[in-house]
Amino acid sequence: MDMKTQNKKLTQKEKYRLLTRDLAWEPSYRSSAEIFPYIDYEGIKITDWDKWEDPFRLTMDAYWKYQAEKERKFYAIIDAHAQNNGHLNITDARYLSALKIFLQAISPAEYSAHKGFARVGREFRGVGTQVACQMQAIDEIRHAQTQIHALSNYNKFYNGFHAFAEQRDRIWYTSVARSFFDDAMSAGPFEFMMAIGFSFEYVLTNLLFVPFMSGAAYNGDMATVTFGFSAQSDEARHMTLGLECIKFMLEQHPDNLPLVQAWIDKWFWRGVRVLSLVSTMMDYMLPKRVMSWREAWNIYGVENGGALFKDLARYGIRPPKHWDQAEEAIDHMSHQLMLALYQWKFGTAFHVWVPSEEDMDWLSKKYPTTFDKYYRPRWEHIKKHEAATGAPFNNFGLPKLCQCCQLPTLFTEPGDPTLTCHRETVYKGDTYHFCSDGCKDIFDNEPEKYIQAWLPMPGLMQAPLHGDLGAWMDWAFLTDGQDNGDFATSQDRENFERWRAQSTSNQ
Ligand code: FE
Ligand code: ZN
Repeated sequence: MDMKTQNKKLTQKEKYRLLTRDLAWEPSYRSSAEIFPYIDYEGIKITDWDKWEDPFRLTMDAYWKYQAEKERKFYAIIDAHAQNNGHLNITDARYLSALKIFLQAISPAEYSAHKGFARVGREFRGVGTQVACQMQAIDEIRHAQTQIHALSNYNKFYNGFHAFAEQRDRIWYTSVARSFFDDAMSAGPFEFMMAIGFSFEYVLTNLLFVPFMSGAAYNGDMATVTFGFSAQSDEARHMTLGLECIKFMLEQHPDNLPLVQAWIDKWFWRGVRVLSLVSTMMDYMLPKRVMSWREAWNIYGVENGGALFKDLARYGIRPPKHWDQAEEAIDHMSHQLMLALYQWKFGTAFHVWVPSEEDMDWLSKKYPTTFDKYYRPRWEHIKKHEAATGAPFNNFGLPKLCQCCQLPTLFTEPGDPTLTCHRETVYKGDTYHFCSDGCKDIFDNEPEKYIQAWLPMPGLMQAPLHGDLGAWMDWAFLTDGQDNGDFATSQDRENFERWRAQSTSNQ
């Protein structure tokens, strides 16, 4: 006769403990150093890997159940958006520029984060750590996929969405996010966790997702709102994992403090430079704006970041080295970068425009100490020039590029917004240029790494292009006259206005 057994249901916590703790074993015929060759070389000292607690204690079956539910909702809304011509519900076609930058620069970054976490999940020792990294690797590839799927519908109707995968490596502004991830993925496992878990998730994600997704909602873009919500619930988990990693390193050994502090300094500054792209999206590209870049920074940078550094102070951590320079730059960066994007608009796979009087009044209200004094006159000058010559204002000069963040040296000196900031380092007989003290510091700490950086723009002057702009555009998958240039004369604008008129009138 069969024995009846009591089928005891395990709690989520018990399941997690069994899943993670009981899978580990001490290797017998290979040394730990052979199996985990990367965890020592950064210099981080760990005495007890079991002290790393994954705060979410999520088992795989629960994970798949939650994620599958989110996917079902996401694809139902994306289907409805496509079937109902949701692209015609956006405020106007200027909004598409923000989406294009997102797809070209940020979605490939999500994919890089996926690759990075798959790697560090293998490289770390603790099983709790490995499981958490594995889940984040799966989250990140899902983010890349949902973003690409959501935006693919726009690609059917508008220019500039068609070659984001190639443009990630070949266009100058996408290089900013790409080089951030190249840097992270070629770092050791602990630094990778700082780069992504701290900088990307903690500093960037809030400033990118929260205001940008509200921006999408304000501008009628349900597709983007949906992928934003679907990703945001993962982000909370990711931020906690990053923070857990920082605390783990600091608690394991006092020698880890200077290394962790140096990574905080470095990755904060790299994050600020990636955010300059986001600042232009928020201040200039959303036809209906939620808040200014400055207002978003006050909430998510000053308040949230301030709370984080207060929390970490008990370990001896101080705020990032160039925090004050970043704080000062907040009132300038969107204007400086947008003016640069406008001047080099022949080389962008999205449209830009001179802000209208109404937009400029909004900007001067949001930036009372800087916009009217430094930036309105420059837009007025561009307008005057265009009226006098009848041609768009383009700058065909090639700027110096920062060897670290890869942006052109377009930002200004701390304390003097009328002087372009430029730093140099001579290393092994070659001169390298930087946009800021923060970027120069990063290079000077690891010159052998950054002299190998891939910067696509110098290729324009080298063989086989030899300065041929048309050939460069072909190489960058940029369709001249369609993907680039001023919004005012773009196909996107013309098509959107025509289709919208058809959908709202009887013609
Ligand atoms: Fe993500
Ligand atoms: Zn830089």
